[in-house]
Amino acid sequence: MILIINKMRLRNTAQRAALEQAFANFRFLFSAETLHKEVSRQHKKIGIATVYRFLNSLASERKIHIYSCNRQTLYSSSNTSHCHFICENCKAIRHIPLKKIDFLQEEIKDSICHFQIDVTGVCENCRKEKPLE
Ligand SMILES: [Zn+2]
Ligand SMILES: [Zn+2]
Ligand SMILES: [Zn+2]
Repeated sequence: MILIINKMRLRNTAQRAALEQAFANFRFLFSAETLHKEVSRQHKKIGIATVYRFLNSLASERKIHIYSCNRQTLYSSSNTSHCHFICENCKAIRHIPLKKIDFLQEEIKDSICHFQIDVTGVCENCRKEKPLE
């Protein structure tokens, strides 16, 4: 019995180490599925629930940044900002590289972690089809 528990713990430790390594190596935003796929290459038996547990534990330690992108939850190890332009007409989502957000920092007195900004409007394609009066 004890042997089985030890074996399980050993496997969990190895999985955790693999998750931590994959997490540290991701340079861009990633989903739980992406992380799961990456770690599964070495640890075939790792379950998606383990991946979610890992992500939740990082969140409670405030070591991970969480974004909502096109109704999907994405994660990042660094506090990069993430901005969308969402067309209200065709619902298309475009990512905007926003470099200067200092003006927002001036407005917000609280301690800021990262930005996620959703800007809505009418995209260029839709404007061409149906010009504004
Ligand atoms: Zn953050
Ligand atoms: Zn996005
Ligand atoms: Zn559009």
